[in-house]
Amino acid sequence: MAEYDVVIVGAGAAGVGAARRLAGSGLSVAIVEASARVGGRAWTLGVAGMLIDLGCGWLHSAERNPWVGIAESAGFAIDRSPTSWGEQYRDLGFSEADQKAAGEAYDAFDRALRDSPQPSDRAADALPAEGPWNGFIEALSGYINGAGLGTLSVEDYLAYDDAASEVNWRVPDGYGTLVSASLPPVPLHLSTPVERIGEDGTALRLVTPRGDIRARSVIVTVATNVLAKGGLRLPPALDDRAHAAACLPLGLADKLFLAFDDADVPPDSHLLGNPKSACTGSYYLRPFGRPVVEVFLGGAGAIALEDVGLDGAAAFAIDELAALLGNGVRSKLRLIAGSAWARTDGFGGSYSHALPGHRGSRATLATPWQDRLFFAGEACSPTDFSTAHGALATGIAAADAVLAQRNSISSSTGP
Ligand SMILES: Cc1cc2nc3c(=O)[nH]c(=O)nc-3n(C[C@H](O)[C@H](O)[C@H](O)COP(=O)(O)OP(=O)(O)OC[C@H]3O[C@@H](n4cnc5c(N)ncnc54)[C@H](O)[C@@H]3O)c2cc1C
Repeated sequence: MAEYDVVIVGAGAAGVGAARRLAGSGLSVAIVEASARVGGRAWTLGVAGMLIDLGCGWLHSAERNPWVGIAESAGFAIDRSPTSWGEQYRDLGFSEADQKAAGEAYDAFDRALRDSPQPSDRAADALPAEGPWNGFIEALSGYINGAGLGTLSVEDYLAYDDAASEVNWRVPDGYGTLVSASLPPVPLHLSTPVERIGEDGTALRLVTPRGDIRARSVIVTVATNVLAKGGLRLPPALDDRAHAAACLPLGLADKLFLAFDDADVPPDSHLLGNPKSACTGSYYLRPFGRPVVEVFLGGAGAIALEDVGLDGAAAFAIDELAALLGNGVRSKLRLIAGSAWARTDGFGGSYSHALPGHRGSRATLATPWQDRLFFAGEACSPTDFSTAHGALATGIAAADAVLAQRNSISSSTGP
């Protein structure tokens, strides 16, 4: 049986962060990863000569995002141009007056969240009855939270929003490329799903189809839906962690990439498909000037489109684009890749949000057990959840907790 001082379960951004912290500490460290690759929800694919991110793509809160420094010291380029999310290419299907009205409606909703807190802690309760821009606000929640406002904790959402900045940068070579390239040289067990973690004397035993692994400390970084749905079973004493994970479900966001052969559209143009609908795409046309449209779907839109499959989702996106750009655009668009995160083993969704009344679940989930089982992953971040930099920080914090605990043992048993 393999034996290590520390085993990290999951090679996503949190696992990579923990491994970077522990490498060189003198402890024996390994990563055990269910899939055949490193990166988790940071996943860059090479398609049609382009590097595209199926998961995270934006360095959010970029001026304080530690991935920026990691990227620069590893020689990655960073694109610092502003995002186009708030723009509508040629005001197509969304007049200047309507953009202003929708923006004002969103600001009023945001003020209602802050100034008139609902006892329900349910974001939907801050929407005006029959508000003409409620669909627009729901669509934004789908993109930001992966979930509709009916299942969103106000307190949790505001904790993120207050901590986040408006500065968002990109890595042209892919966020997924950056995360996977940042893993230090530690033993890596790929295609090795941990089914269960149990006690083994003073250590822990990880049960996998490829044999058991023994570790004195374990850092679990898997997504909340995996923990909540029994994809990784914890000791029975940790039922509260599984319950906390269930209160922090992954919302759904997906991407489609459509080859787009039209050099007349300026690079990094943006279109919102239908500004009155909660179920609509956000379209980045020719990102970095590349011949592609990146389609972002969130919440209800992503759920509906995973149901119809990638081809059905592409047909929906092409219909929305044709309604704005004209029917001639149909022959210029072709599906080349897409995600289906709810249906992808090891995830079951995209990023976590707290259910109303359950903001405290993030702290519960992040609490170590008996100084030997530690938790990390985006959902454990109190403010930067749902992001790759939040995940990184929780991995580093869990590794620091392991190191602090080891130091306290060695000083209490010292000469
Ligand atoms: C479509 C989409 C767009 C996004 N956009 C952005 C963005 O622009 N900016 C941003 O910062 N964030 C974004 N995110 C969120 C970001 O990708 C995640 O928050 C972050 O990557 C999560 O990292 P993690 O390490 O916590 O979890 P994960 O990446 O889920 O890593 C956990 C790892 O555990 C593995 N695993 C699961 N079960 C087991 C098991 N039983 N045994 C062993 N291993 C297991 C998984 O395979 C995975 O590799 C986006 C996500 C999606 C899906």
